[in-house]
Amino acid sequence: MFYNKDCNLEFLKNKIITIIGYGSQGHAHALNLRDNNIDVRICLKKDSKSNVKALNDNFEIISIEKAVDISDFLVMLLPDEEQKSIYDLYIHNSYKSKKTIIFAHGFNIHYKQIIPRNDLNIILIAPKAPGHTVRSTFKEGNGVPSLIGIYQDYDKNSFNYALAYAKGIGSGNIGIISTTFKEETETDLFGEQAVLCGGVSSLILTGFETLVESGYSPELSYFECLHELKLIVDLIYEGGLCDMRYSISNTAEYGDYYVYENYYYNIFKLKMKKILKNIQNGNFAKSFILDKNVNFLKLNTYREKFSNHLIENIGNKIRKLFNFKKKIIC
Ligand code: NDP
Ligand code: MG
Repeated sequence: MFYNKDCNLEFLKNKIITIIGYGSQGHAHALNLRDNNIDVRICLKKDSKSNVKALNDNFEIISIEKAVDISDFLVMLLPDEEQKSIYDLYIHNSYKSKKTIIFAHGFNIHYKQIIPRNDLNIILIAPKAPGHTVRSTFKEGNGVPSLIGIYQDYDKNSFNYALAYAKGIGSGNIGIISTTFKEETETDLFGEQAVLCGGVSSLILTGFETLVESGYSPELSYFECLHELKLIVDLIYEGGLCDMRYSISNTAEYGDYYVYENYYYNIFKLKMKKILKNIQNGNFAKSFILDKNVNFLKLNTYREKFSNHLIENIGNKIRKLFNFKKKIIC
């Protein structure tokens, strides 16, 4: 684990850093680096929706041609599926030798969508949180942990650049972990598919459907399988699984172990190993890239199907009854 004391921002001083993209990660990295007195420019397409945001935040916006010409560091904070064409079209033949490309996720390098010239430094700085948290925690004087990794180290300074950049976005306040592009990519995809996004959504939906199909009211099913999740996750986040189990009733705690031992364990392990294999052998990446090449036909079909699920209609009604404050995110 590395902290601020191990990082030297001087490695980024008097360098030109251009962040390509001003979305979730882009705006947070740019604002945090600038607050650390690092010189940052933003690169966006002329018709990008993000231009207004970057201009409102007083950044200079430059074209990709200019970015490639003047930058010491290009930071790839555009969507993963857009990165290959930008690299192939604008960067590969024109970016100067000994310069650096920074990624926030290893997908394109690990799955060989981008095959970088070997006279460049290729670095990973992957914050373990959404961009808006990268920014909000930084403003509180804190930060989110980041993983760093080096794929190519042409000028023998890449590790210092990675530490400096991670400090610049606030991760040195909390912890910087060294890894590889392969490990970051495979664990990140596994975590979001098997547990955080795919796993949790599958549990919620399957639980809700099981109750509704068995004749229970959709409203109650929504409360039991979705609404209460936050209360449990908050406890887990603050104190781990054991603390959560300490706070719930003995009946709930006994049921927790009981279903794990009698129902979930074997099935989940078997399925999760298959999910992991599918990530390791590149089949998931292939499927995602193929879908991108047909304008996300599958992704849009999934979006349509799941946004019309009964749980969304019920949820919309129930959430209106609560006085939730809508979070404004840019
Ligand atoms: P977003 O979708 O939030 O933002 C993408 C930005 O790139 C937008 O400003 C978009 O502009 C711009 N953009 C799109 N196409 C181009 C282009 N051709 N040229 C220049 N700019 C373009 O992306 P994220 O911030 O979520 O993801 C960026 C990277 O960070 C990815 O590699 C992702 O895996 C990684 N990452 C993301 C995390 C997250 O929680 N979001 C966490 C950790 C890593 P417009 O507004 O016009 O679409
Ligand atoms: Mg992740």
